[in-house]
Amino acid sequence: MTTVIVGGGIAGLTAAWHLVSAGVDGTDVVVLEGSPRVGGKLALAEIAGQRIDVGAESMLAVRPEATDLIREVGLGESLTVPATTSAAVWSRGRLWPLPTGTLMGVPADPEAARGLLTDAEIDRLVDERPWPEPLAGDVSVGDYLAHRLGDAVVDRLVEPLLSGVYAAQARSLSMAASVPPLFAAAQRGGSILAAAAAAGAARAGTRPGASAFCGIVGGVGRLPERLREALTERGVMVRTGVTVRELTRVGDRWQVTTGAVPAPAYLQAEQIILAVPPPAAGRLLRGVAPDAADVLAGIEMASMAIITLALDRRALERVGRTLPGSGFLVPATDGRTIKASTFSSNKWGWAADADPELFFLRASIGRAGAVADLQRPDAELVEIAVAEVGEAVGFPLHPVVDSHVQRWGGGLPQYAVGHLERIARVETAIAGVPGLEVCGAAYGGVGIPAVIASARAAASRLLTTKGHR
Ligand SMILES: Cc1cc2nc3c(=O)[nH]c(=O)nc-3n(C[C@H](O)[C@H](O)[C@H](O)COP(=O)(O)OP(=O)(O)OC[C@H]3O[C@@H](n4cnc5c(N)ncnc54)[C@H](O)[C@@H]3O)c2cc1C
Repeated sequence: MTTVIVGGGIAGLTAAWHLVSAGVDGTDVVVLEGSPRVGGKLALAEIAGQRIDVGAESMLAVRPEATDLIREVGLGESLTVPATTSAAVWSRGRLWPLPTGTLMGVPADPEAARGLLTDAEIDRLVDERPWPEPLAGDVSVGDYLAHRLGDAVVDRLVEPLLSGVYAAQARSLSMAASVPPLFAAAQRGGSILAAAAAAGAARAGTRPGASAFCGIVGGVGRLPERLREALTERGVMVRTGVTVRELTRVGDRWQVTTGAVPAPAYLQAEQIILAVPPPAAGRLLRGVAPDAADVLAGIEMASMAIITLALDRRALERVGRTLPGSGFLVPATDGRTIKASTFSSNKWGWAADADPELFFLRASIGRAGAVADLQRPDAELVEIAVAEVGEAVGFPLHPVVDSHVQRWGGGLPQYAVGHLERIARVETAIAGVPGLEVCGAAYGGVGIPAVIASARAAASRLLTTKGHR
């Protein structure tokens, strides 16, 4: 019984790992990855001679899925936590501390947002207004919170935070799919500020110093590389540079078409796990699950670019310049091009130690709906990042020793209002197709732990309900 996994991002690799961990013979599992390397949005690149994450760089640690997987594949000793979590918001021309303990941007203590929000905006925040009728179904995070707490908290706190995770506009992002605790509070009809305060109090009760996030010494991009090794050790064939073009049902088996159109190659399999982004999944499912294909093809994708800079740390220190904290978020409403910057050498001890002469930081560009920003050449994106981060911290960022631009075209699926219902439709359609499962960032959350959970669930369903022998 052969299982072909299409897509060698963290979802596809995890699905393969789950199968072999459950006792499936590795030689029965094949992972096909279209690009030359595994990992998808988890990627390392060499900048000033050091390997640095140019995709995902941290993971939620309050969920166990990522840390469990990291330990299982033998990277447990490399788990690390951020050296600093003090972040800022670059708003109205200066850096303000990001209030700690927010419920996706709604401050547990409104006073903590004073300054970042004007006195009038704080007054509006605490003057919480009821939603006009009981909340029946999904609504956008931005519309709901702007009505109840005012536009300012959405524009200057909620959206910048959401934009960092989902690359989305708050006013089109599904509250049910992206901030379930907020949606639950909204459905109960109670105070949102009280829910934020309760979430803040619950967090305050956790182990002192416990970080909500974690990373891997040497970069999150090491995880897919290690997974590939671990899978290969178990006999799994992980093939890169193999794009799947078509899936067809031939009798009670699957035919997987790869290769160039004039010279197609075919693989036969009893089972398929599709671990590719929604547009690719939509194309591949067209002939076998048209209803699922329609929904997946309709999911918008946000593109972005990560610009990584290596600065001359010693030169900055000589003139008494330091970059503060772990970085900052940028509200779209201020009209800047960058949407966030992470000071990697402050945030990750391993990045600081990699080369003490250098200071690594990154900036992200690519807001939902602002496609023109990404049409600029790489050199211009670097110039913008250098100029805007420099303006935010109040001094010019030179000398820049090296820079790197990583483009993520169609990087993140957009969870628009009604996302959960659409995904339920996909799942219903897929459940009716023998030997087929789907997983990845489109289904149960875009963060790495959620994607891992989605992959393990898909592999488990295949093992149980769809009867892998
Ligand atoms: C810039 C950026 C930063 C992020 N930062 C974080 C972060 O810090 N923390 C966090 O938790 N999450 C972060 N995320 C989100 C998270 O990284 C992704 O949601 C997750 O990695 C998606 O994994 P995946 O396997 O579902 O998809 P992908 O990583 O997209 O992998 C899918 C793979 O399928 C391959 N593929 C596509 N079509 C085919 C085909 N036809 N045949 C064969 N192969 C195919 C692709 O080449 C790709 O390798 C970030 C995302 C981006 C874009």
